[in-house]
Amino acid sequence: MLKVRDLHAYYGRIRALNGISLDIQVDEFVTIIGNNGAGKTTLMMAISGLVARVSGIIEFQGVLLNRLPPYRILECGLAHVPQGRMLFPDMTVLDNLNLGGLRGGPNQSLQKKREEVCNYFPIIAERLRQKAGTLSGGEQQMLTIARALMVTPKLLMLDEPSSGLAPIVTQELAGILVKLNKEGITLLLVEQNARLALELADSAYILENGIISQKEPAAKLLNSDEVEKAYLGIA
Ligand code: ATP
Repeated sequence: MLKVRDLHAYYGRIRALNGISLDIQVDEFVTIIGNNGAGKTTLMMAISGLVARVSGIIEFQGVLLNRLPPYRILECGLAHVPQGRMLFPDMTVLDNLNLGGLRGGPNQSLQKKREEVCNYFPIIAERLRQKAGTLSGGEQQMLTIARALMVTPKLLMLDEPSSGLAPIVTQELAGILVKLNKEGITLLLVEQNARLALELADSAYILENGIISQKEPAAKLLNSDEVEKAYLGIA
């Protein structure tokens, strides 16, 4: 579904990605783990068209994404839940959701899309008239994911969705991600809680200093002493 080859990304003269290649299959649940600064966020942003200087190949369902603007990438069915939520805090929950539904996906009414999305997030359905900035942290994270689902994505990328959430809300979120994947949305997850990510995912890439060092079944990495020492102690 997604093919990345020899991807380099730069911020000015800083090289953040140094020749990444990866493949994600339809219906797969993939996670990327790596230390702070390894390039996880940059990789997702590069795939979404949000990093200005990239070289290499990014192909999604046979379409070359490299030179497409972010809104066209979204229209291809590739949605991104960014780190830090990026909601419009002074707009209502309803308007935040509707903005998500303006591009891409099947030609359904916004209301129909909202109803489908709210099935996953009943709490959001109860708060449609509330300003997004007044939601709790967990509710805001749910809204960010709900907004991305409004485009009916085929591949959903999530950057540290559990950041700042209480353990019980994180568990709820994990359940929703598993459900979304079972219902046919391919997932790419970056998580500060690497143990949780490995428990949820089918396969995992390890990213070190802008390079992929390993790809393995997630369960295998979960049982690796080396991975335990390097990445799981902090979860
Ligand atoms: P974390 O887990 O801490 O979020 P990460 O793996 O997501 O880290 P990135 O945020 O992708 O890492 O950063 C990769 C490298 O690119 C780092 O060295 C970082 O300092 C650098 N970098 C990221 N954004 C910028 C920017 N806007 N300008 C310059 N350098 C940047």
